[in-house]
Amino acid sequence: MPAGAKVRSDAAVALPRDAFAMGARRREKTLPGHARAHNRTLVLQTLLDEGPCSRADIARATMLTRVTVSELVAELLGEGLVVELGTRDAARPGKPATLLDLAHEGFDVVALDLSEPQRFRGAVVRLDGTVVERLERAIGDATGDAALAHAIELGRALVARSARTVLGVGVGTPGIVDAEGVVHQAPNLGWHELPLRDRLADELALPVHVANDANIALLAELTSSGAETLLVVRIGLGVGAGIAVAGVPVRGDRSAAGEIGHVTIGTDGGPRCGCGREGCLEAWLAAPRLRAAIEQAGPGERERVLEEAGRRLGIAVAPIVGAIDVRRIVMSGPEELLAGTLLEATAATLRERTLDEGDGLLVDMTSHGDDVVVRGAALLVRAGELGVS
Ligand SMILES: [Zn+2]
Repeated sequence: MPAGAKVRSDAAVALPRDAFAMGARRREKTLPGHARAHNRTLVLQTLLDEGPCSRADIARATMLTRVTVSELVAELLGEGLVVELGTRDAARPGKPATLLDLAHEGFDVVALDLSEPQRFRGAVVRLDGTVVERLERAIGDATGDAALAHAIELGRALVARSARTVLGVGVGTPGIVDAEGVVHQAPNLGWHELPLRDRLADELALPVHVANDANIALLAELTSSGAETLLVVRIGLGVGAGIAVAGVPVRGDRSAAGEIGHVTIGTDGGPRCGCGREGCLEAWLAAPRLRAAIEQAGPGERERVLEEAGRRLGIAVAPIVGAIDVRRIVMSGPEELLAGTLLEATAATLRERTLDEGDGLLVDMTSHGDDVVVRGAALLVRAGELGVS
């Protein structure tokens, strides 16, 4: 039995459809429909974690009865989410068991990353996170409805590229995004109170799940790293962070947890920010700002600019490290800017400014490279549509 299965089979816990609402799950009351949805999720999660297995294996792993498992499997087979693979060679006498698996071959997820300057990226992703197709769309400096039209067109083109059933569309966008997929504000794209999820769902006629790009990167990192407490810093068009405590992404009272881009760093002023103030973290570190600062500083000054930016990031992040006792920080964004001098300056500043006892505060680049948002977006759809993590 997988180590986590016992915890998951607690009937009082109903897995939420919103991966970022997980903090609330222990307060939910169990209703009959909830229990059934939860049991269904257990079956899918077991197949996802364990690979092909029999009904009896699933019953053992989930501690559900054989009858319940058989009913749920029949339902999932009917929906095409699960397939029968044939029989396993019998190790014991008796009827050989039929192996079941998730219908990996039947479904794709379409993932959109709207967080980079000048272009939207997208991918067709398998349920296991494998990227099978990529597309990019140059958007120039488009904002507002024009930017939305680019996102719709990119989504449409990717759906057309998939030869399978598209389970849903996952979208990572900059800005403050609530649980209903409304972008309250994404100043860099000129979006205010934009119901991005519903607009895309109407246009693409598919289920859509939207989250802030840093929070989506956090999902990808949580799944691949197995870390419980994690801070992901994402630098693109803006600067944001995703924060997980006890394995659960933190959303905050206004869905704005991790929005550190407009935190003012220091009392010495600094570059003017798009928000009108001086010295915001974003004004130092957003990718276009960094590139411009390097160009303006002239030859030979590149490392100094990157070091200063890395130091400012360390100053901004140190109180978070102190507050949540995180030992692992993952950076995501343009490698040519972040990896090296900037990352080292951030790590050094964090060590200076927090209670570091040499027990391994780890600051690293993401291992997912440029795919971190599209992989996380696929996980968001999986969680939203199947309930699995
Ligand atoms: Zn600002």
